[in-house]
Amino acid sequence: MSVENPFENSRKQLAKCAAILELDENVHEMLRHPMRELRVAIPVRMDDGSTKVFEGFRIQYNDARGPTKGGIRFHPEEDIDTVRALAAWMTWKCAVVDIPLGGGKGGVVCNPKEMSETEIERLSRQYISSISHIVGPRMDIPAPDVYTNPKIMGWMMDEYSKICGMNQPGIVTGKPITVGGSLGRGDATARGGLYTIREAAQKLGIDLSKSRIAIQGYGNAGYYAAKLAKEMFGSKIVAISDSRGGAMNMDGIDPEIARQHKMDTGSVANIPNTVPVSNEDLLELDVEVLIPAALEHVITEKNAYKVQAKIVAELANGPTTPAADEILHERGIHIIPDFLCNAGGVTVSYFEMVQNFYMYHWSELRVHTRLDRKMKDAYNAVYDAAEKYDIDMRTAAYVVAIERVVTAMKDRGWI
Ligand code: GLU
Repeated sequence: MSVENPFENSRKQLAKCAAILELDENVHEMLRHPMRELRVAIPVRMDDGSTKVFEGFRIQYNDARGPTKGGIRFHPEEDIDTVRALAAWMTWKCAVVDIPLGGGKGGVVCNPKEMSETEIERLSRQYISSISHIVGPRMDIPAPDVYTNPKIMGWMMDEYSKICGMNQPGIVTGKPITVGGSLGRGDATARGGLYTIREAAQKLGIDLSKSRIAIQGYGNAGYYAAKLAKEMFGSKIVAISDSRGGAMNMDGIDPEIARQHKMDTGSVANIPNTVPVSNEDLLELDVEVLIPAALEHVITEKNAYKVQAKIVAELANGPTTPAADEILHERGIHIIPDFLCNAGGVTVSYFEMVQNFYMYHWSELRVHTRLDRKMKDAYNAVYDAAEKYDIDMRTAAYVVAIERVVTAMKDRGWI
């Protein structure tokens, strides 16, 4: 995806934490390796009658705390090291919010923007079928991620149910509500992130109702972050972007108008009453809160010293490189690290699993209240660890998560 290797970066982050925790070398070594990896070739009949073979992965990183959990990405530049890093981050993510799950991730190298809906459906069904022997409601539970969505989860649930000869709603989360999805899952990643921003703003004495926010990425996470930041805090969304361009207006952009514009034109670029802003420039704007909500490695050592935000809330996975991390920390910028900031999605996925096991639906209010509690507790545990060890927030998030994973490994007798 970029010159940086995300898996090597995730290992660097782990090493930093291992040193602080004075982790046993053998334990550290175990945590450096994914527990299981599967690579599949997925033949798909295309609309023109030809057959195309796509490459797919499913990686289960660590299941000490429970069945592995994590999304599936459909992306043209997907590669195994990205999936490995994402699977590791899922492990730390589930631990930091203290839900009884391990970490996994899946990916298919494809460009859904160039495929028809029927081609995407065939690919989705074929992919879950190819990995069906290693996934299951108590084994490994996929979910949506970049360029996958509830509709795709519905197809995968259906295909897996056919393979099993019985209804298996718990095989994936992020499903449509009618087939076992949870209320509140749609905006959960953004909502969870905003709860952590609220906590951070309180600690730092920032008034969010007077704050300006810039958001990179206008997919599920980015759009809901804009909408909810306006609704919950009254903040001003001054810049947004997507893979095709960006729009800026220091008096504020209406998130709904932006969404409609993206639906009509395919991008948030050129929204009326805005000026263009590039994805790079957006990161350097004079705002209180910057939310990277797209892909990894966008804040690097090249631009980290130009970031002006007081809070960087990482709704994307891996947006900041280790070198950039240090620069931001030295400059006193408060980072809410990815696997803490974006853990709301998997937290509500976990609530969805619980509801599926009981064949019951919770109210939206119940989901929101429980999500709020989880995110607040997780943020505060990380903040306290940062104070206790005098370390940056990302390392602190690792400390909290790794301690929990290692305790489970000990309790199982692995170490
Ligand atoms: N793909 C989301 C993430 O990276 C959600 C995973 C899930 O719900 O299992 O956290």
